[in-house]
Amino acid sequence: METALDYRIARRRMVTEQLRQRGITDDRLLHAFLSVPRQLFIDPALGSRAYDDCSFPIGYDQTISQPFMIAFMVQALEIGPDDRVLEIGTGSGYQSVVLSLLAKEVYSIERITPLARKAEEVLRSIRTGRIRLKVGDGSKGWKGYAPFDRIIVSAVTSSNPDALLSQLTPEGKLIAPIADSSEHIMLFIRRNGRFAKRRLRRCTFVPLKKGVD
Ligand code: SAH
Repeated sequence: METALDYRIARRRMVTEQLRQRGITDDRLLHAFLSVPRQLFIDPALGSRAYDDCSFPIGYDQTISQPFMIAFMVQALEIGPDDRVLEIGTGSGYQSVVLSLLAKEVYSIERITPLARKAEEVLRSIRTGRIRLKVGDGSKGWKGYAPFDRIIVSAVTSSNPDALLSQLTPEGKLIAPIADSSEHIMLFIRRNGRFAKRRLRRCTFVPLKKGVD
């Protein structure tokens, strides 16, 4: 049975070896990773492996993302303290917490009801920033709270996320895995009414699905 100290040591090591040494330099982001207890978002039987350099199954054929991939995407989004962020694919809720410690408000959508309920329960048990969750098809965005300064998509599709892009503020940014012949993290930057699109790195994500389970 791991102690709080074991987890703190594993978390520090994760931040140094998996994030800092691989080019994650944003201090606010590194600080956020130091404060989120990843062990609460995965199967308790995994113990201190919670801070391993990988994704883990969270049930319903879904996974909690690899910490480095979350850090890479969130760093590329350059979230400011006054930003409102939309997250598609709450999953375990781990990334939602990281986002909430950087932004003013986080809106997160998950299509699998039991995962959303579980995430909600964990989020209620720890210190987070402001997070609003809902069950739904995130590919349509969240019109009632749009526009968003930043949007992050945690599941892969083959097409441009047009509905989501239309919910960005004029200087907004969206990051998402997109699959054509292969799968890449793409960053969309809105400027003067147009979108600049940058391909950042290869990746592997679970698929973005339509509707709600
Ligand atoms: N960052 C999350 C990753 C979860 S995996 C974490 O670290 O826990 C991606 C999640 O996206 C899955 O839970 C999946 O159910 C969800 N998802 C897939 N398609 C979706 C859609 N259209 N709308 C909302 N959520 C979706």
